[in-house]
Amino acid sequence: MMKEHVVEAVNRQIQAEFNAAHKYLAMAARFEQMKLRGAAQWMRVQWREEIEHGMKFFEFLIRRGEDPQLRTIEKPDVSFDKAIDAFRMSLENERSVTQMINELYDLAVKEGDYPLQTLLHWFIDEQVEEEEAVEEIIDSLTLAGDTGEGLLMIDRELGQRTAAA
Ligand code: MG
Repeated sequence: MMKEHVVEAVNRQIQAEFNAAHKYLAMAARFEQMKLRGAAQWMRVQWREEIEHGMKFFEFLIRRGEDPQLRTIEKPDVSFDKAIDAFRMSLENERSVTQMINELYDLAVKEGDYPLQTLLHWFIDEQVEEEEAVEEIIDSLTLAGDTGEGLLMIDRELGQRTAAA
């Protein structure tokens, strides 16, 4: 049995992961509208990853004999006109998810929930990768420019992203 407020915190994390997924899917739609199909593809892959993150916590609760409680998903607000703004928004979002993961880890330590700590080790590593990947894209867009040929080149690269390794 898990402690009730630890289950509660995991349910909040599930919601945060699905909220993130929803945002990335909205960004995919916006990029399609902007004819940046590579960036749209990148966002679709990101969407799928976030769904998988949420599902990891979901399955974890079930395996621990708990009942996952799904919550409201927010309507995403992703009205950007420049690719770099979308990735800045993504970075901000990932940083806040990292903060939540860290706080959840603090709680797992405080409450002596060892299985949750082990699960969170994976997420702690994953957040380093998420932030690093988005920072690299922001750097590329800053260097190559957010218009014209530079943008097309980056868009082509982003389009090569497939399912996570
Ligand atoms: Mg995530």
